[in-house]
Amino acid sequence: MSKQAIIIGSGIAGLSAAVRLAVKGYDVQVFEKNNYTGGKLTAIHNRGFRFDAGPSLFTLPHQVDELFRLAGEDPEQHFSYIQLPIVCNYFYEDGTRLHAYADKKKFAAEIEQKLGTSSKQVLAYLEKSRFIYDTTYPVFLKQSLHKWKNFLNMDFVRGVLNIPRLGIFSTMDKENKRWFNDPRLVQLFNRYATYNGSNPYQAPGVLNAIPHLEFNHGAYFPEGGMHEISQSIYRLAKRKGVHFHLNSEVNEIVVKDKKATGIKANEQFHAADVIVCNSDVWPAYRKLLKNEKQPENVLKQERSSSALIFYWGIAKKFDELDMHNIFFSADYRKEFDEIFDKANICDDPTVYVNITSKTKIDDAPEGCDNWFVMINVPGDKGQNWDELKKKAREAILLKLSRILGCDIEELIISEDILEPKTIASKTSSHQGSLYGSSSNSRNAAFLRHANFSTDINGLYFCGGSVHPGGGIPLCLLSAKIVDELIS
Ligand code: FAD
Repeated sequence: MSKQAIIIGSGIAGLSAAVRLAVKGYDVQVFEKNNYTGGKLTAIHNRGFRFDAGPSLFTLPHQVDELFRLAGEDPEQHFSYIQLPIVCNYFYEDGTRLHAYADKKKFAAEIEQKLGTSSKQVLAYLEKSRFIYDTTYPVFLKQSLHKWKNFLNMDFVRGVLNIPRLGIFSTMDKENKRWFNDPRLVQLFNRYATYNGSNPYQAPGVLNAIPHLEFNHGAYFPEGGMHEISQSIYRLAKRKGVHFHLNSEVNEIVVKDKKATGIKANEQFHAADVIVCNSDVWPAYRKLLKNEKQPENVLKQERSSSALIFYWGIAKKFDELDMHNIFFSADYRKEFDEIFDKANICDDPTVYVNITSKTKIDDAPEGCDNWFVMINVPGDKGQNWDELKKKAREAILLKLSRILGCDIEELIISEDILEPKTIASKTSSHQGSLYGSSSNSRNAAFLRHANFSTDINGLYFCGGSVHPGGGIPLCLLSAKIVDELIS
């Protein structure tokens, strides 16, 4: 008889772990509290508009391809994507507009022409970003940080020897200021801290590895939208025989003699040889493992930022906008101080506008576009969100209307809103954080929960709140590490 595996949660990491364990020969059951799979990677529809509700930026698509190949299928038959020619359009308060072309030479030339910083300098920065990524990936990302044997290799030695060149003891902002004199360029590269919900004025300079993913690997968009990432893996899991229990919240992970023996959902016990928890690690301990020893130093880590998103159906098309657009705040430091120190939203937030109908035209009715308008906000700590939402909506509309030269509010024909409290209730993410714990300290990587329990045999963890962290690429890696640990 096959061994039994239970996965708690069908986020991208849970789905990926389900496929991996099914391929290993396990009889896999996924318990999901919602009536849909995908967790944060889901979609909403309103009055003829379709929106990807969560992630909008997709890098390293080969990780998804890898899952199909592992399962003996041709990824091209089930999951296709295109590379975006323009990664992002940037709008500054001083009127500067930049296209971040995927072709990095074109991007560097654009910066030289518009900002006067030499293209050579920009290309050298992107090479440095590649160097940091290539040096840290084998040691800190692709394997468990909680197994001594993983440090007995040349990659680790190379990492240690290069510590002075990685920016570990500096911040992203300080490193970027060492590279660039133009504050607009510093702001552009500081923005990458938000890719894991962190603060560039505190997060270590080693996170300057992130631009490498966009400019040296590329930004992509799946045919069918971001939602297809989770749904194509869900369908793959079903083809591999994984059984999904929707509307099935797990209330307890049952532990006997230091071994996880099964779970309780809807009052019923389900036995398993292996349990993979894809739920945020905070509620996993506080609710599902409340009688077990709690890893307090892990659970008390500062959480990543959350988001406030307006999904607007807009009755107009704007030629100056692309799929990804950033409207920067005038004072970036103040914005992050408000988010992380005051748990507040600043008066002039940086606004991100994602428009998938630029590429996937059936995402909006003719003559219209689907605007996913997001600002970074603190996690839910009991603030008055109705007041904050009203204030933010006004500030966003004022800023976009001013920069785009027309009254945006008049163009809104449908509206949905996602706020930290709803992110928390829909996905069990503590405080509604997007990426688990923040990376605002240089020890953050070591203080994320391991992909396995050191106290309870047969219990594993994957997803954005555990090693190696949040975001689609790292969540997929977490499932791969769990797969290797179970081997
Ligand atoms: P989650 O998506 O967090 O899902 C966990 C699942 O577990 C949920 O379905 C939940 O219902 C279920 N669950 C929890 N507890 C239980 C229980 N007790 N019983 C049963 N089921 C349970 N990442 C990027 O790479 N690029 C982006 O552009 C990007 N933008 C983002 C924008 C937003 C608005 C959000 C919300 C996130 C964004 N992210 C982005 C982050 C990315 O979405 C997450 O890191 C990733 O999707 C998290 O996946 P996960 O596997 O941790 O599971």
